[in-house]
Amino acid sequence: MKIFINGKYYDKADAQISVFDHGLLYGDGVFEGIRIYNGKAFKLREHIERLYQSAKAILLDIPMTKGGMENAVMDAVKINKKENGYIRLMATRGEGLLGIDPSTCKRATIIIIVADIQVYPEKYYKNGIEIVTASSRRIPSDCLDPRIKSLNYLNNIMAKIEARQANCLEAVMLNREGFVAECTGDNIFIVRNDELLTPASNQGALDGITMGTVIEMANSLKIKTHKTSLTRYDLYSADECFLTGTGAEIIPVIKIDGRVIGDGRIGAITRRLIKGFKELVMWHELKY
Ligand code: PMP
Repeated sequence: MKIFINGKYYDKADAQISVFDHGLLYGDGVFEGIRIYNGKAFKLREHIERLYQSAKAILLDIPMTKGGMENAVMDAVKINKKENGYIRLMATRGEGLLGIDPSTCKRATIIIIVADIQVYPEKYYKNGIEIVTASSRRIPSDCLDPRIKSLNYLNNIMAKIEARQANCLEAVMLNREGFVAECTGDNIFIVRNDELLTPASNQGALDGITMGTVIEMANSLKIKTHKTSLTRYDLYSADECFLTGTGAEIIPVIKIDGRVIGDGRIGAITRRLIKGFKELVMWHELKY
């Protein structure tokens, strides 16, 4: 494994950053998770765009152009000879003094890790998963905009622990008002009366790239989509439910907080979207 740090490649054992990096000290930084299908980074341009928007929102200057970053990611995939895998792209505030003031950090640290992907076992895609609502809430969107994909994931980690304690893979996170925001590392969709509903970003949802892909697919299948507010009642009474994320792709949900969703089997619209997504990633090409 060759890891990119600030323009140079290192073996895994030698890939190190300073303990004074504010990414480590304060979670000060932004990141992306990107899939590699057939040797190509999927939706790379969208991920780079989101990275730079996240960085801009936290006044983090990435010392590379977007084009340079795209090339660096593609090179890292090639150098690691990865046909199918996962890329972790990070920009931290960089090395500075102890103390949160980012002005002591002279240069962002850019890291690109190309790794294997840990996918959920196939049975979950065939049978669907059960999820629970976590008591850990999503950080309110007026405190930290959920569209910023920052290195601060503690709330989500707390919710993930709750999921694991309940023997589930994922947990629903609510916002401060009690509306559904998203899951710990995935967006959530429901199907109601043949339409797709998902929480809007002002409800606490990350603007997921997979979410965007699903909405595009739904549009081309003439399935109506709405970004809206959802309560737990909406989840429980949904006809279908599924989660979306770079790692999980589209994963069907058949039970939430002990309530069976629909008839407890993967619904027709979820199946169509999963099939469409598989085809999309099989044939995807990077467009420049
Ligand atoms: N929400 C959160 C909190 C996430 O971390 C992620 C990414 N793992 C998602 C949603 C899904 O976003 P994407 O489809 O861009 O991976």
